[in-house]
Amino acid sequence: MKSKSVRHDSEDLKGAVWEWADRIGVTVREVHLRDMRRKWASISTSGRLTLSTDLLNLPEALREFVIVHELVHLLAPNHGRVFKSFMSAYLPDWEERQHHLQILPNA
Ligand SMILES: [Zn+2]
Repeated sequence: MKSKSVRHDSEDLKGAVWEWADRIGVTVREVHLRDMRRKWASISTSGRLTLSTDLLNLPEALREFVIVHELVHLLAPNHGRVFKSFMSAYLPDWEERQHHLQILPNA
């Protein structure tokens, strides 16, 4: 398997954000990649998404989970029932992915 450049990977990551925003029907205005200690991502109510560069080291399924989680926050601000039902609608196995993310050894 050929390893891809970081630049190519960050373009893939942003591309996945646009695809999911379109699918979920939310507006993302800006996507930033940055070193974020202790967080994978954050999103503002105005649609400004910040992703941790650590995501570039994660398997695609986990990156996708983080992206969908943040975008669903544009529909449901907290992690209540509405949030969970959107997650299940878009990523039926989201709880399993969340679990994998939580048991990753800290870098
Ligand atoms: Zn959240």
